Amino acid sequence: MYIFSFALAVLSAAWTLVSGWETVPHTDRWHVIGVDAETSASLGERAFDEVLAQESVVDDGVAVDAVRSIVARLAPHANKLAGRDYHWDVAVLDEPSPNAFALPNGNLGIQTGLLPVTGLEDGLAAVIGHELAHVIARHPEERLTQQEFTRLGQFAASLFFSDGDPATQAAIFGALGLGAEYGILRPFSRTHESEADRIGMILMAQACYDPRAAPEVWQRMAALSRGLPAILSTHPANETRMVQLSSHLAEAMTVREQAGCPPLPGPSS
Ligand SMILES: [Zn+2]
Repeated sequence: MYIFSFALAVLSAAWTLVSGWETVPHTDRWHVIGVDAETSASLGERAFDEVLAQESVVDDGVAVDAVRSIVARLAPHANKLAGRDYHWDVAVLDEPSPNAFALPNGNLGIQTGLLPVTGLEDGLAAVIGHELAHVIARHPEERLTQQEFTRLGQFAASLFFSDGDPATQAAIFGALGLGAEYGILRPFSRTHESEADRIGMILMAQACYDPRAAPEVWQRMAALSRGLPAILSTHPANETRMVQLSSHLAEAMTVREQAGCPPLPGPSS
């Protein structure tokens, strides 16, 4: 039975490798996605519901208004870049750590601890743009696909190296069915972070925000994260990232100019 399931999983993985290739909007990086839109949307909805059930959600106030208006201003540009209308839904969570997350289908979480770091305008738009970028670049789905391949490899190894011990095989096979929802909330890779930085600044520029706020806000996050390892793991900030942010800034400023936005005042504050 395990062999049969394994064979099916191999066939499905092979099909993904044949048919699952697509490019990321704006960066044109090729990646393979083995999760269909409906499955990833329902995983995203379930994970979002779980977070909302566990966390204290802020329903109104200045912060909620600011977050919602930024999402509303960035969302049309994200949809246009992605060629798809996402169902954007944002929750402000009463959490002291400066963090945010993005799920497939356009569900976003912004923790109140971010606001003293970002302010309520361009800095916040930088973080929200970055989260929208994760969604339209389909980073959660790409990560799920990579996890499926990893699990398949581990299962193959278990078949060949476990001496056929049924208990071991059953345990590993059981683990194959777990983790999708857990995995969807795990931190992104450096590649994904860097790509979200770049696309996020483009979205900011198209919506006439000041993209110069992005390197500044990530620098402040980095400074803050020195004493808080959890943030470091979610949004790694280092010298390389700062250099990349500066190079993406030039691109974003050009996009902003082409979008016909009003000129920016002097250096951003
Ligand atoms: Zn990120």
